[in-house]
Amino acid sequence: MRRKIIAGNWKMNKLRSEAVELVKGLIPLVADVRDVDIVVCPVYVSLSTVYDLIKDTNIALGAQDCFWEEKGAYTGEVSAPMLKDVGASYVVIGHSERRQYFGETDEWVNKKTRAALKAGLTPIVCVGERLEEREVGRTIDVISRQLEGGFAGFDKGQIGGCVIAYEPVWAIGTGKTATPEQAQEVHSFIRGWLKDNYGEEVADKVRIQYGGSVKPANARSLLTQPDIDGALVGGASLKAEDFAEIVKAAIV
Ligand code: PEP
Repeated sequence: MRRKIIAGNWKMNKLRSEAVELVKGLIPLVADVRDVDIVVCPVYVSLSTVYDLIKDTNIALGAQDCFWEEKGAYTGEVSAPMLKDVGASYVVIGHSERRQYFGETDEWVNKKTRAALKAGLTPIVCVGERLEEREVGRTIDVISRQLEGGFAGFDKGQIGGCVIAYEPVWAIGTGKTATPEQAQEVHSFIRGWLKDNYGEEVADKVRIQYGGSVKPANARSLLTQPDIDGALVGGASLKAEDFAEIVKAAIV
């Protein structure tokens, strides 16, 4: 049985003092949770501060992106070893906002994911279709292309070290959640893709999160689908109570 993983993507929100307040609120609310992996992903500049508060708790640290080179003349970028160095265990890669606003391609996702694995981080690799793609029946084509490109050349060990997040773009920050059935359909396709390309053992092991307007009210119905192994939560992760409720909805 796959252990559920709930990650909060804080996006570009929270000053350092606000991040401290949020995480201090969250720690006691989830302190008793043992069988769910809990991750918070603050902005780069708050990573160290948040890590100091959570390092002895059941909450792990994630970043929202990384660059693929380890160091050098890449002004403004942050590398995977640097994230590891400040206490991160996870890194979100290929989020739809990065694809939309920063021109991130499947090839970049591939390079960043490799760099994250090399640094000992667990990549959370995001895939998802846009509304116009869903409306013309291209959802599975788009997800296939993102998986093929994002994981091109990966061996079983590499893909086995990743988490995949299915995030339909039309459901992110819009309040429109995919129905549990719509989400399960795509998760089941991703599981099948893993099985066809890497075999049953890998397919059984890799966790696939759902993301897109997950809230306390809909979390349980999504998280009880057979191929949904967790959630990547944006808006609702900015409130300690809401995020804690989503974490608790993942307890089996
Ligand atoms: C996200 O940013 O990954 C996300 C799913 O956002 P929201 O939960 O706000 O839709």
